[in-house]
Formats: sequence, C-alpha cells, structure tokens
Amino acid sequence: MAKADMPHAGHDKHLCYLNNLGFQISNPKAYKELVKDGKFMCKVCGRVAADENNLCKPVKL
Ligand SMILES: [Zn+2]
Ligand SMILES: [Zn+2]
Repeated sequence: MAKADMPHAGHDKHLCYLNNLGFQISNPKAYKELVKDGKFMCKVCGRVAADENNLCKPVKL
C-alpha cells in the first residue's frame, strides 16, 4: 500500500475513511450500495455496512 497514514490494511475501503473523504457526497450512489441492507456495525464509529470488509471493527447486527 502506498499511503503511509493507514491505521490498518484495507482502511481505504472502510466507511470510516470514505466518510471522512466525503465519499457519501461525491459518490452517493456507490455509498448507498455499501450501506444498504447493512448487516454489520462498526464498533469504532457506529456506521453500518452490508459487508464487514467495509468497516474497521465490524460486529454483526
Ligand atoms: Zn468505523
Ligand atoms: Zn479501517
């Protein structure tokens, strides 16, 4: 991975990170796809995603 400021692997795909980038504003359609029918919640920020791979600390809902 090229970026040095990632706290852990795959963080560039995590909603926590994408949200900080304004992904939900620049790409609302794609963002909705990630969160709709959410089955996992992030323990860190409370965001919900359909795929646990899009969260830092996923817990099953
Ligand atoms: Zn999070
Ligand atoms: Zn993360």
